[in-house]
Amino acid sequence: MSSIKILGKRKKIALVAHDHKKADLLEWAVHNKAALAKHELVATGTTGKLMEEALDRPVKKLLSGPLGGDQQIGAMIANGEIDMMFFFWDPMEAQPHDSDVKALLRLCVAWNIPMACDRATADFIMTSPFMHEAYESTLPDYTDYLNRKVKDNE
Ligand code: PGA
Repeated sequence: MSSIKILGKRKKIALVAHDHKKADLLEWAVHNKAALAKHELVATGTTGKLMEEALDRPVKKLLSGPLGGDQQIGAMIANGEIDMMFFFWDPMEAQPHDSDVKALLRLCVAWNIPMACDRATADFIMTSPFMHEAYESTLPDYTDYLNRKVKDNE
């Protein structure tokens, strides 16, 4: 049976940007500073440091993405500790941690996490009425998977 996770009014937002996309994410965040002030921010190390400076407010900083930060956000998503993600990844450059990037994008889908990977999507999410109210997120039902038969003789 699928279950419901309530995202409160104050959302826990993950922010990540690859180096060539950091300026885009920062500009977007400054433009949305007032709206973002109502939410809690978590970011990979370098993105978080730049965000703190640009927004003049605390941001929870994890490790830098290639050093495990993407995986830390992934773990928080799996633990139900992140409500949405703004991840401006670079489509024009291979990353040393491409496997981590793929894993993070996968976990967002696995846990029904709203995710913006470009500015237009980020604008649509930020202007959604759900940003200002509680939202009932339906978590996928993994019961069949969890109860699957794993031994031939079972
Ligand atoms: P960074 O990591 O914010 O530490 O640069 C971003 C990433 O590449 O995942």
